[in-house]
Amino acid sequence: MNTEVFAARHIGISEKDLPQMLKTIGVDSVEQLIHETIPDDIKLKKPLDLPAGISEHEFLDHLQELAQKNKVFKTYIGLGYHESLTPSPIKRNILENAGWYTAYTPYQAEIAQGRLEALLNFQTMVSDLTGMEIANASLLDESTAAAEAMTMLFELRNRQQKKDNASKFFVSEEVLPQTVSLLETRAIPLGIELVIGNHETFDFSSEYYGVLLQYPGKYGQVYDYGSFVEKAKANEIKVAVAADILSLVLLKAPGEWGVDVVVGTTQRFGIPLGYGGPHAAFFATKEEYKRSIPGRIIGVTKDTDGNRALRMALQTREQHIKRDKATSNICTAQVLLAVMAGMYAVYHGPEGLKYIANKVHKHARVLVSTLESHGFQQTNTAYFDTITVKVKQVEKLKQATEGKGINLNYVDPETVSISLNEAVSDQDVQVLVSCFLEAHNIQRKEANIAKEEAIPTALQRKTAFLEHEVFNSYHSETELMRYIKRLERKDLALNHSMISLGSCTMKLNAASEMLPLSWPHWGNIHPFVPLEQAQGYQDVLKSLEDQLNVITGFSATSLQPNSGAQGEYAGLMVIRAYHESRGEGHRNICLIPASAHGTNPASAVMAGMKVVVTKTDERGNIDVADLEEKVQLHAENLAALMVTYPSTHGVFESSIKQITQLIHDNGGQVYMDGANMNAQVGLTNPATIGADVCHLNLHKTFAIPHGGGGPGVGPICVAEQLKPFLPSNPVIKTGGKEAITAISAAPWGSALVCLISYGYIKMLGAEGLTNATKAAILNANYIKDRLKGKFDVLYTGERGRAAHEMIIDCRPFKANGVEVTDIAKRLIDYGFHAPTVSFPVAGTLMIEPTESESLAELDRFCNAMISIREEIDEASADEPNNVLKNAPHTLGMITNDIWEHPYSRQKAAFPLPYVAENKFWPSIRRTDEAFGDRNLICTCAPIEAYAEA
Ligand SMILES: *Cc1c(COP(=O)(O)O)cnc(C)c1O
Repeated sequence: MNTEVFAARHIGISEKDLPQMLKTIGVDSVEQLIHETIPDDIKLKKPLDLPAGISEHEFLDHLQELAQKNKVFKTYIGLGYHESLTPSPIKRNILENAGWYTAYTPYQAEIAQGRLEALLNFQTMVSDLTGMEIANASLLDESTAAAEAMTMLFELRNRQQKKDNASKFFVSEEVLPQTVSLLETRAIPLGIELVIGNHETFDFSSEYYGVLLQYPGKYGQVYDYGSFVEKAKANEIKVAVAADILSLVLLKAPGEWGVDVVVGTTQRFGIPLGYGGPHAAFFATKEEYKRSIPGRIIGVTKDTDGNRALRMALQTREQHIKRDKATSNICTAQVLLAVMAGMYAVYHGPEGLKYIANKVHKHARVLVSTLESHGFQQTNTAYFDTITVKVKQVEKLKQATEGKGINLNYVDPETVSISLNEAVSDQDVQVLVSCFLEAHNIQRKEANIAKEEAIPTALQRKTAFLEHEVFNSYHSETELMRYIKRLERKDLALNHSMISLGSCTMKLNAASEMLPLSWPHWGNIHPFVPLEQAQGYQDVLKSLEDQLNVITGFSATSLQPNSGAQGEYAGLMVIRAYHESRGEGHRNICLIPASAHGTNPASAVMAGMKVVVTKTDERGNIDVADLEEKVQLHAENLAALMVTYPSTHGVFESSIKQITQLIHDNGGQVYMDGANMNAQVGLTNPATIGADVCHLNLHKTFAIPHGGGGPGVGPICVAEQLKPFLPSNPVIKTGGKEAITAISAAPWGSALVCLISYGYIKMLGAEGLTNATKAAILNANYIKDRLKGKFDVLYTGERGRAAHEMIIDCRPFKANGVEVTDIAKRLIDYGFHAPTVSFPVAGTLMIEPTESESLAELDRFCNAMISIREEIDEASADEPNNVLKNAPHTLGMITNDIWEHPYSRQKAAFPLPYVAENKFWPSIRRTDEAFGDRNLICTCAPIEAYAEA
């Protein structure tokens, strides 16, 4: 074996496994299998036009070299992004630890209690600091969180007041520019009218349903919004505030004014800047809005034995499950980053956070006093960390700072704003001062440090926060390390076993792809620095766009969307802009097959489209006759078809070209949901099937880890005619000639993790990528044929083949009293995470092995499934005390002196020999969903609970 070929490390099976696998499937060669799987008329005729792969060490050298092209300045630009210090134990034990970053979204609560607890900490931290009752478990970035607030409040108004005329949303001119741009994008399709202005002269007229304020303002002024909020309330106008999380340590919490929503980012709680992301945003609100909250919420409940258990709360769990009734399409959020930010608060505790906030604030005051002593005027009457200074020699100041490797925020020809952060030292403050003196030719003199407060008493925080035990226990590294490990042990991630989640593509996230994320030359770049300071990033992002253009067959790519769902929305908005540019703005019908992922209809509604659902036939394919009928019916107004390919049923539909042609013939555009791109790369592509735009989930197909539910990157790739409309950013120019406004806060979305996908493509090369696709299809078909006779596969292609995943039908087992959930939970006893449960068909499992699994692991999984099938046969609807219904079995159950089950402990916990070698113990039994939703608790228990105990 050539030990330098990355493909051999990434792909789990090898030449020697082939004869056995091919025999099981009943084909002579992989080529024959592919031939029987992918329709001939969409197969690529040529290999991908990408270079050959490079080795892992070559890739790391290459990224070292590129990293040197990024210039790490001391950056005081602020605007929602601040240099932060990631505590080393958090970096090493979470960010660099596969036990954390390779976990999936915690749908299977019994094997996810660790990250659920970490997220509960995050929610508690956010609730405490904002002074709000309830917080979710992260959103994509501050600007999208603000947009979610705008739309949630609009929806609430519409529902409560049966559509009065209040459709205006006021946005303070103090709000960050990227947020304003994003609000514009999101407001237009929903008929919300944005009015941007000075909150001090706002008239509170009845046309407004809501407002957004920034706290502190974008250049650091701290306003007292108390009387504003009061007036707004009196006029039935809801108030959302975008707040800086660190400032809330010293400033009065917005919740104390009675605001309705508080949003923001937790980036400065130990998360690298990463040229824009990924970072976890937060969304905190009142308990009364709990059913309208976007994203996921972690809640406390109990398990079968009555023990405390955590799980995703409110049975709908996520808005997008409501499909076209949803008000948000958030699916993947920013779990790994939320875990890190929450752990930052655990490590520092309330006293540590106060130390940090005070240090930052003190540096700001010293800077102000010193500048004022030298005759400069600072204009913020109250400030936390960001000051605004009037300058005469702005050009000279720029020269002086740039010469010393410093970035300031140049507001206008006479004003600069300087935003300080945790990483600033006394020395850094003095260097800043000397830049001002040098530029203005002033001699340094002794400075007086001002006595008066920079934060007026009325705005100072008086309330306690983070009093819970978890924030007051782990302040030494040993304690923190063990706490992190204790949580990690409760979670099953890819470093334990295969996670065969259909549609989610849980493949290897290679260490070499991940390593550069830790390097300061990638981590410590602010998204709004001048392009010449980020040439390393520009090289990578441009190359990645080119790579994705080649792979999809399209003309251009925008890396801005931070998740697949965000990509869907971006793509539909681009289609919308395209129709408008042709004078066809009336086109607003979006056809979506019934089997589509819930985010598809949710995104379409957010883009102002009307969803028309089309049927699937008995083979699971799009019912072409029904589609034709609906196309004809809506031909005048047809905007788009959203289609997943291969379908969510795991099949390459052979009529796809006919379908896309039909849409084009009737003036529509075709949006391809690219979640299943892992079955296409190198063999076919979206352009070939006739699509016009697709998103890719870089966190599925292109090796970015799921991180327990994020980060994600959902770029859109478009055909030539849609290229002009790719999204822009108001601070750093990106996107097409007639660009739509922002989709994400940062110009290139979550640039830092784009390094992973870039590395994946670069190391596999054209041949490796294509072989990965073939292996994914081979592995899926191997599982399908090994399970033959035991489980029925719901849909296959015309020649009986699955694509890269398959749906197995578990509904017949109801006769034995066995539900699909019982199988999912029983798999835990065998050491496996369940496949996707009940999507896209209720009562089924969707299995996707990916190319990264070895034959041995595929066999262990198949053996587990076959063994479970025998257990299903033994089960009866009359006897619920059986091994399936009681699953998963905890160590507590097995070692209990009382054992009242008609099967052995051995059978319960060690059902097959391989299990003993690598036993995974779930930390709780099944969670009680209904109990948790009736008694919704979304924060750590209050301090009184400990006092009572
Ligand atoms: C995962 C998935 C999505 C949503 O992607 P996110 O990154 O979670 O927003 C959309 N469609 C399909 C078919 C998916 O599997």
